[in-house]
Amino acid sequence: MTTASKKAGCVFCDALEINDDRRSHILFRGRLNFVIMNIYPYNSGHVMIVPFEHVASPLEAPEGQTEEMVDLLKLCQAALARAYKAEGFNIGMNIGKCAGAGVLDHYHLHIVPRWGGDTNYITVLGETRVLAEELDSSYNRLLPHFERASERPEDLP
Ligand SMILES: [Zn+2]
Repeated sequence: MTTASKKAGCVFCDALEINDDRRSHILFRGRLNFVIMNIYPYNSGHVMIVPFEHVASPLEAPEGQTEEMVDLLKLCQAALARAYKAEGFNIGMNIGKCAGAGVLDHYHLHIVPRWGGDTNYITVLGETRVLAEELDSSYNRLLPHFERASERPEDLP
């Protein structure tokens, strides 16, 4: 994994720096991206795919990073479908302050699982919701699905 361009005080760079993936709620480390739970989720099982590099936009991304991000999107969808029986997904990015980015200069891809009748309409840009399930139990529920992918990458969806 790359160690280039980290920024202290950035929630994603700090989560990587701690080097305690359970504490940081990091589910998976790829070659150029990692998967982390959102600590302010829109729905149970809300995860994010984040580049190791501290970059503000896909336009600044290092070679291969956006491609791996899409591969990991498939992994996340499959894990959420298995662990949560997700029936649908909101998937998206907020790039730039006017677009509602919470972490301005380290871009990331949100994956929010959805179920028929789970709430009234919410979007990826919506408000943080009160959750029935605690973050740690979400982590424990999802982790085995990501561990399986680390051990057997040929089984990646
Ligand atoms: Zn960062």
